[in-house]
Amino acid sequence: MERIALRVENATKAFGALLAVDEVSLSIAEGEKHAILGPNGSGKTTLFNVITGDLPLTSGKVFLYDHEISSLSAYRRIRSGIRRTYQNTLLFGGLTVFENLFLAVKGVQPDRYSLRSVTSSSPAAEEVGRIAAMLRIDGFLSEPVADLSHGNQKLVEIGMALAGEAKVILLDEPVAGLSHEDRALIPKVLSNLPRNITLVMIEHDMNVALQFADFVTVLHNGKAIRERLTVDQVKNDRYIQELYVGGQRAHA
Ligand code: ADP
Ligand code: MG
Repeated sequence: MERIALRVENATKAFGALLAVDEVSLSIAEGEKHAILGPNGSGKTTLFNVITGDLPLTSGKVFLYDHEISSLSAYRRIRSGIRRTYQNTLLFGGLTVFENLFLAVKGVQPDRYSLRSVTSSSPAAEEVGRIAAMLRIDGFLSEPVADLSHGNQKLVEIGMALAGEAKVILLDEPVAGLSHEDRALIPKVLSNLPRNITLVMIEHDMNVALQFADFVTVLHNGKAIRERLTVDQVKNDRYIQELYVGGQRAHA
């Protein structure tokens, strides 16, 4: 039987009078690749913020597997397995790929405040190696992150999200601003992650989203106007197609 990895129940986030997220419910199965589509300003990033605890919910609940996590701090949610990447890459550009990944691995360990020296034989360093190999960035471990292509920088960020026991990873427009080749690279690498990791991707480019996703939710003005559509259902949905193309024009 399929297990639900991430469940959002009637999530609402108000900024003053604006309902940026308005009674949104989601049910995402373990291992599912789920895309969140919607025009600019439709509440996609805010939805991620309330799932991760970066922002408090106004009302509603969030569950990771069977555990309600809505009242946990953002850090406790990370420890429980909810991870994210941001629209704008957050990396230590002057540090190497190894050092960035190492900090992420140490950051989710219970003894994260201990200042043990960085040795290549420590369990943390071994985990860095495993993550880098999985994302095919093991050839860049000793390079400063600032010297990498934007696509490889995004992979480092995804690697940081994988550290420890990542269960659900929320990716906020991971291919935005990337070159043509890098745009194809990211979904390919994501499809090679372990099958039990659940991926939720916000994507502005409908083609990328449909290539990636098993199921799609469409947000508009903070509301989920379509839930758990298949890729074919999205392609055959005239309203969504028009709304989306309209949204992209407005964005361009
Ligand atoms: P999307 O990611 O779909 O482009 P956002 O979630 O960023 O949309 O924004 C949804 C709406 O909420 C927008 O109208 C935006 O201006 C507003 N908004 C987002 N964050 C804040 C905030 N911290 N304070 C006030 N309004 C916000
Ligand atoms: Mg956004």
